[in-house]
Amino acid sequence: MKQYKIAVLPGDGIGNEITIETLKILKYIQTYYSSFQFEFQIFDAGAERFLKTGVTMPEDTFNHCKAADAILMGAIGLFEARHPDGREVNGDVIFRLRFDLDLYAGIRPVKLFEGVPGPLRDTSKGIDYVVVRENIEGLYASRAGGCNVRDELATDTIIITRTGTTKIVEYAFKLAQKRNGRPIDGKSMVTCVDKANVLSSYAYFRKVYDEVAQKYPHIAKDYAYVDAMALYQVMSPHNYDVLVAENMFADILSDLSSATIGGLGLAPSADIGDNHGLFQPAHGSAPTIAGKNIANPIATILSGAMMLDWLGERHGDAELLQAAKSIEQAISNVLNEGVCLTVDIGGSAGTNQVGDAVIESLHQIL
Ligand code: ATP
Ligand code: MG
Repeated sequence: MKQYKIAVLPGDGIGNEITIETLKILKYIQTYYSSFQFEFQIFDAGAERFLKTGVTMPEDTFNHCKAADAILMGAIGLFEARHPDGREVNGDVIFRLRFDLDLYAGIRPVKLFEGVPGPLRDTSKGIDYVVVRENIEGLYASRAGGCNVRDELATDTIIITRTGTTKIVEYAFKLAQKRNGRPIDGKSMVTCVDKANVLSSYAYFRKVYDEVAQKYPHIAKDYAYVDAMALYQVMSPHNYDVLVAENMFADILSDLSSATIGGLGLAPSADIGDNHGLFQPAHGSAPTIAGKNIANPIATILSGAMMLDWLGERHGDAELLQAAKSIEQAISNVLNEGVCLTVDIGGSAGTNQVGDAVIESLHQIL
C-alpha cells in the first residue's frame, strides 16, 4: 500500500465547500482499493488569509506543496485582496506554484456529459476534447516585465522559446496518444492554435509544432488560427481531439470551451510539470455564492479524478487509474439522472447533496 501525500489548499469563497465534497469522495473511494491511501495535509492560503495576516501563502506551505505527491486546490482570490500596486494576491499562490514547480502544461478537458443542458443547439455528435495550454511563457510571461512610458504608452513582450514550445507540444502529442482518438471516429489529432499568419512569435510556435509532429506520424496534424478556432469550438466541437496553444490564447479558448459544456461549475483543470501536479477547478472563488451551499462541486471533484489519473500513470498504479475512471463514471451517472443538480445547471440541490449523490453512485459502481 502506497501512501500519497496530498497538499490541499481550499482557498477562498466557495473553495472550502467544494473542497470538502471532493475530499469526502476521495476518502470514500480509497476504502475500495488496497494499493493506495491518501494523507491529506490542509493548508490555509489565499486572499482571505492575506486580508487577515498580510501573507497569502507562508513559505512553509509552499515547501509542503513542493514535497507533496500532488496538490489539490479549491479556488483562490478575492477582488478586494490586492497588493499596493493593484495586482491581485492570487498570483502569490498560483503563479508561485506554476513558476517555481515548473507546471508548464495547463490541461483543460472539455467534455459534455449526457443530461447537461449546454448552450449549443446541436450537440448530437458530442463534445470531448482537451485544451493544452502553455502555462509559463507566451504573452503572460511579460506580466511584470511589461513597459509603461509616461502613462502614455504601454507594451508587453511575448516569449516563445524552443524548449518551452517543444515541451508543451510533446505533451499534447503524448496526450493524444493516450486518448486514443476522438470519439466521433477514433482519429487522433493535435490542432496547433496560433496566429501564425500575423505574428512571427506564433509562426515560430507553429514551426516547432511541425518539428515535434514529425515524431508522431500516426497522429494527424491540424492547424487553426485562434479567431477561427473560437468559431469552430461553437460550430463543430466534435471535430477536435487535442488543442495546443500559447498561454493567453489557450486561457481565453478554455473559458469559451467551458461555456459549451454547461459552465465553469463542470470544468476541471490541471497544471502539470515533469515532477509536480496541481489540480483545481477552472473557475474562481465565486464569492457572491460562497457559504450558501449552492456552488457546484463537480469541477473540483473531476479535478480530483484527474489527480488520481496522473498519480496512477506516474506511479504505475492501475488501481488509481481505475479509481479515477470510477469517479468520472459516477459523475456522469449523476448528471445523466438529472435529479441531483446544482442551480447553475438547472437544479436545486445543495453542494453537499451533489457530493452525497456521487458517493451513492460510486457505491453502485464499485
Ligand atoms: P477568477 O478571476 O478567479 O477567474 P472570475 O471572476 O472569473 O474568477 P468565477 O469565480 O470563476 O469568476 O465565477 C464566474 C461566475 O461563474 C460567477 O457568476 C459564479 O457565480 C459562477 N461560478 C463559478 N464557479 C461556480 C460553481 N462551482 N458553481 C456555480 N457557479 C459558479
Ligand atoms: Mg476568470
